[in-house]
Amino acid sequence: MRYPILLFDADNTLFDFVAAERDAFLAVCRETGLPFTETLYDLYHRCNEELWEDFNAGKYTKDFLLVERFRRYLCRSGLTGDPEAMNQIHLRALAESAVLFPDALKVCQSLAAHRRLYIITNAVASVQEARFASSPITPCFQGFFISETVGCGKPERAYFDYVLAHIPGAKPEDCLVIGDSLTSDIQGANNASLPCCWLNRSGKPRPEGLRINYEIRSLTELPSLLEE
Ligand SMILES: [Mg+2]
Repeated sequence: MRYPILLFDADNTLFDFVAAERDAFLAVCRETGLPFTETLYDLYHRCNEELWEDFNAGKYTKDFLLVERFRRYLCRSGLTGDPEAMNQIHLRALAESAVLFPDALKVCQSLAAHRRLYIITNAVASVQEARFASSPITPCFQGFFISETVGCGKPERAYFDYVLAHIPGAKPEDCLVIGDSLTSDIQGANNASLPCCWLNRSGKPRPEGLRINYEIRSLTELPSLLEE
């Protein structure tokens, strides 16, 4: 059998982070008594996006951004609230949220019948552990490699060396990396010389200079691809 060991990315591969963010905003509204409408959510989402862009450009610290997005949202919406408290609720709700893509559970259950599945994720350990603890997909996995616990993360070669060293009997050619991110999952598999499968849900163009062994648009393509 090809690829008896499958290394799955978590966010935006198995877990729907877009849905998780929406749920977290809903929790903020519910717990603070603020109104929720699609228009208000769009406004919050825009504030959040703007600030993350500035953060990526090195303009703000993450701690500033996390509270500022709610401060900006309150200012633009004309609503009154406590941005610090809203952010606390949001972070807690995000940690508790484990919204799976509709096809993720079924696909992983069927693959786990004949293969060993592991999670490879760049994340804060406490947040990610809380999410897995509440997810029905967790029993499908033999182990979890969270970057914060490992001490380094994707796409570093050292991270993948650690992962392989901690999976009993793992040989590189037996492992398939599956993930949505070119910069962490696919680049990481390239750095570590591991076979990889790019989950390209939105049909982005294929980049040059990266080895992509397989490309799928949906997780449901995975079982038949592995049987080929
Ligand atoms: Mg991802």
